[in-house]
Amino acid sequence: MKLECPSCDSRNVTTVWTDHTFQYGVFSPVSLVAKVPLRRCSDCQEAWIDFVGEEIMTGVVKDSKKAASDQNPSLEL
Ligand SMILES: [Zn+2]
Repeated sequence: MKLECPSCDSRNVTTVWTDHTFQYGVFSPVSLVAKVPLRRCSDCQEAWIDFVGEEIMTGVVKDSKKAASDQNPSLEL
């Protein structure tokens, strides 16, 4: 699969695996870290996380929910 830059349609896109920290939750957000493939365009320097990274982040959220409910089964997330 050839990656394309969403900003300039360039195909000079490189992938860097990076630790991406993001917040999850509305009332008491937690910081989660996911190792995701960050795409970077060599032509316009645009950087973005695509669906592959989104899926990895979804998995990290699921794991953290499971870990939290294992520790405290009454906790509703
Ligand atoms: Zn670009």
